[in-house]
Amino acid sequence: MHTRHQMDILHHSTDGYVGTCCSCGRFQVAFGTSMFQIHEDMLRGLLHELAEDERYCAERVDPRTKCFVYDVGSECVRMVLNHTEVVRLRSMLSDALWMQGIMEEVGSEPK
Ligand SMILES: [Zn+2]
Repeated sequence: MHTRHQMDILHHSTDGYVGTCCSCGRFQVAFGTSMFQIHEDMLRGLLHELAEDERYCAERVDPRTKCFVYDVGSECVRMVLNHTEVVRLRSMLSDALWMQGIMEEVGSEPK
């Protein structure tokens, strides 16, 4: 079971958490009622989509309408968000990637 693998937590807040699995390196993202595990390239792709939707749709949609649909690496599950959630998830994921960068820098320092 993946959920029992050890994780490096990159971000944790009332919205959820983001961590990386110590054995396979995939990102584990918990947000709202969903939790999904994706590779870094997919996470970056998702972050890009979120950033675009955050920018282009801000004035055109009711922030509470669930109208943003995202692929989370599964054939039968999609994540559906409203604009407020798009903003929150985008900030959570960019935070996590920033933290990952810091941790990699610290880890690569000569001892
Ligand atoms: Zn894993």
